[in-house]
Amino acid sequence: MSLSRFNALQTMENRIEPFPLDMGEGVVENIASYFGENVFHDEAMRNHLPENAYLTVKAAVQNGQKLSREIADVVALGMKKWAESHNCTHFAHWFQPLTGKTAEKHDSFFTLTHDGRVIEEFTGSALVQQEPDGSSFPSGGMRSTFEARGYTVWDPTSPAFIMAVGEGKTLCIPTIFVTYGGEAQDYKLPLLRSQAYLDKATVPVAQMFDKEVTKTSATLGWEQEYFLVDEALYNARPDLSMTGRTLLGRPAAKHQQLEDHYFGSIPERVYAYMRDLETECHKLGIPVRTRHNEVAPSQYELAPIFEEINVAVDHNQLLMDLMERVARRHKLRVLLHEKPFAGINGSGKHNNWSLGTNTGVNLLSPGKNPGTNLRFLTFFVNTIAAVHKYADVLRASIAHAGNDHRLGANEAPPAIISVFIGEAMSKLLDQIAKGKNTDAKEVKRALDLISKLPNLEMDNTDRNRTSPFAFTGNKFEIRAVGSSQNCAGPMAVMNGMMGLQLEEFKTDVDKLINKGTGQDEAILTVLKGYIRKSKAICFEGNNYSDEWKAEAAERGLNNFATTPEALDVLGKKLAQDFYSKSGVMSKIELEAFHAVQLHSYCTKLDIEAKTLEEILITQVLPAVMRYQTELAQNISALRSIDMVQSSRLQVDLLKRIIVNVEAIQSGLKKMHEAHDRAHHANDIRTEAGIFCHEVKPQMDLIRDAVDDLESIVDDQYWPLVKYRELLFSL
Ligand code: ADP
Ligand code: MG
Repeated sequence: MSLSRFNALQTMENRIEPFPLDMGEGVVENIASYFGENVFHDEAMRNHLPENAYLTVKAAVQNGQKLSREIADVVALGMKKWAESHNCTHFAHWFQPLTGKTAEKHDSFFTLTHDGRVIEEFTGSALVQQEPDGSSFPSGGMRSTFEARGYTVWDPTSPAFIMAVGEGKTLCIPTIFVTYGGEAQDYKLPLLRSQAYLDKATVPVAQMFDKEVTKTSATLGWEQEYFLVDEALYNARPDLSMTGRTLLGRPAAKHQQLEDHYFGSIPERVYAYMRDLETECHKLGIPVRTRHNEVAPSQYELAPIFEEINVAVDHNQLLMDLMERVARRHKLRVLLHEKPFAGINGSGKHNNWSLGTNTGVNLLSPGKNPGTNLRFLTFFVNTIAAVHKYADVLRASIAHAGNDHRLGANEAPPAIISVFIGEAMSKLLDQIAKGKNTDAKEVKRALDLISKLPNLEMDNTDRNRTSPFAFTGNKFEIRAVGSSQNCAGPMAVMNGMMGLQLEEFKTDVDKLINKGTGQDEAILTVLKGYIRKSKAICFEGNNYSDEWKAEAAERGLNNFATTPEALDVLGKKLAQDFYSKSGVMSKIELEAFHAVQLHSYCTKLDIEAKTLEEILITQVLPAVMRYQTELAQNISALRSIDMVQSSRLQVDLLKRIIVNVEAIQSGLKKMHEAHDRAHHANDIRTEAGIFCHEVKPQMDLIRDAVDDLESIVDDQYWPLVKYRELLFSL
C-alpha cells in the first residue's frame, strides 16, 4: 500500500525541527586529509606494489599496454592488502551495462582450500576477468541464449575504489563488459575505443604545433542537475517511485516565475545532504567543487573539477549511485529524471568537453600568446566541422524517453543540434572565410587577424544559454545530455567524430604541403574551406524560438523531436560509417545498441502507461466519484427545498467533473487499444512508434483532464501529493 497523502504530509512535518542529523566528524576536517582515501590511487599503488609491478601498471595506463598474468597476480595481492587495511571483506567487478546504471557482483575474499582450511584470497585472474551471468542484461539479441555468458574485464586506466555501504566495504574494480565473442555490451568499451582513436588522430595534428606532444586525451567536466523531494511524499506518489516522474499533477500557482530559486540560499536539510554527499564523493576521489540551487524549486546542481574522460565518466556514474544512497540517509529522494515535473525546468547534465596534451596544454584554449592561436583555431574549427557532419549521430546518443520531455520544452535546448561560438569568434571566422583561398596576402591578413584574437577565457562567451552545444571560452559545453544519462554515450560520439575530422584535416593539409605550400598557409586554407562548409551548423540566436525551427529546416538541419525518430540514424549509412571508421562500435554492436535503446524506450512507456492506469482506477477516480456524489446530493437537497438558484455553482462544477471523467474514460480506452497494438507490433521500431505517437498522446490528454479535476475536487479527498507540497516543502 502506498502512503496516503495526508500521512505522508504528516510524516514530513514531523521531520522538521530539529532535524536529527549526525553529520559525523569528517565534515569539519580539511578535505585534503581524506580526499581519495578510498581509492587505490597512485600513492596507494606505490605503497602496496613492488616497484616493477607499479611501473608496469603505470605504463599500461599511459600507453595501453597489456598486463601479463604474473603482473596481475602481483597487483591483485597488493590491492587485497590495501583493501584489507581498509576492512574490505569482498571484491566486485563494477561495470556499466546498457541499462545506463552501474552493476556489481560481490564475491568474498574468503575461500576454502582443498583440505578445508579457510583462507583469504584474491588472485590475478579474479582481478582481470569475471563471468557474471550475462543473460539478464540488455544485449539487443547479440547473445543467443546458449551463449548467454558475459565477461567483465579489468580496466586498469580507472582506479579501483572501496564502496562503503553501512558497515560493509567492498573493493570495486572498474571493468568493461563483453560477450563471449568479445563484443561490447556496455558504455565503457566503446568509450575507451573512442579515446584511443581520438588520441591517435590528435597527436599528429598537435605535433604540427609542438613536437613534444606524444599523448592527448579528452577531458570532461559534467554538471549534474537533480531534484530532491521528501521521502514520505515520494512514497505517496506511485508515479514518482515507478517512473521517476510525475505522470499527473497540476502546476502550482507559484512555480519558478519569481526567479528566486536560482543561486538562492540553500535550505538547511538540503545543505546537510549536499555536505554529506560531498564528503562521500571526496573520499572516493570525485573532485566535486560547485553546488548551488538551480532554476526550478527543489532543483539543485553539483559540478566537479574536470578530469580525463573515462575517469570523469566513472565518477559521474558513481556519483549518481551515491546521490541515491545518501538521499535515503537524509529521508530524501533524489530525482535524476530529465523531467520530473511538468511546467517547470527539467534536469540536464552539461558535458564540458575539451582536449588536453601530455605537455599540459588545453588545445581549445586560445591562450594569451598570439602564436598559439593557429593551433587553437585548428581544433576549434575542426570541432565545428565534426558536429556539422555528425550532428544526427550526436542527437541519437542523447535520445531516450526521459530526454524527450526536456528537449524542446521551453527551458531546454531544442532537439536541433547547432553550435554557438559567440560574437567574437563568429566575426573572426567570417573574416577568415571571406578571404580568397590562395592569395598569400590574404593568408597573411588572416594570420594577423588570428594573432589579435581576444582573450576568450576572460570574455564571457557563454551568454547564450539556449544552445545545445556552446563554446565557453576554452571548452565546448554539450547541454543536451539528459540528467540520468551515462555520459559515455555522447562522449564516445564526441571523441569519435573529432578523431574522424582530425584525420581528414591532416590528410587535406598534407596534400597542400606536399605541393609546396607552407604549413601555416596550408592549415589556413583548409580551415577556410571547413568554415565555409560547416557554416550551417553555427547559430547565435534564440534556440527556443519558432523562427529557429523554420530557419534550421531551411539550413538542412534535422529536428528529431522524439527518441524513435532520433535513433533511426543508427540504421543509416551516416552512423554506420561513423561507428565502423572510428572503430567505436562494430556493425553487430551498433545493431544491438539500436535494439537495446528502442527496447528501453518501449519498456519505459509501457511502465508509465500501466502506472497511470493504476493510479486512475485506484486513486483518482474513487476520489472524484466520492466528491461527485457529494455534489449531486447537495444539488438535489437544495432543489428539494426549491433553492435551485443556490445550486448553480455546484451544477457547473458537476458538469466540469463529468466532462473530465468522460475524457479520462475515452482516453483510457484509446490508450488500451494503442497499448495492445504496440504489444502486437511486428518489430521493435513499429512498437516504439506506436508508444510514441499513439499511447503517449492519450496519456497527455488524460493528464489534462485529471489536472483540471485537481482544481475542482475537495482538497480533503485528493489522493495525490500536490505540486506545491512536493516542491516547496524542503
Ligand atoms: P559554467 O559557467 O558553465 O558553470 P565553469 O567554468 O564553472 O562553467 O565550468 C563548468 C565545468 O566545466 C566544470 O565541471 C569544469 O571543471 C569544466 N571544465 C573547465 N575546463 C574544462 C576543460 N578544459 N575540459 C573539460 N571540462 C572543463
Ligand atoms: Mg555550464
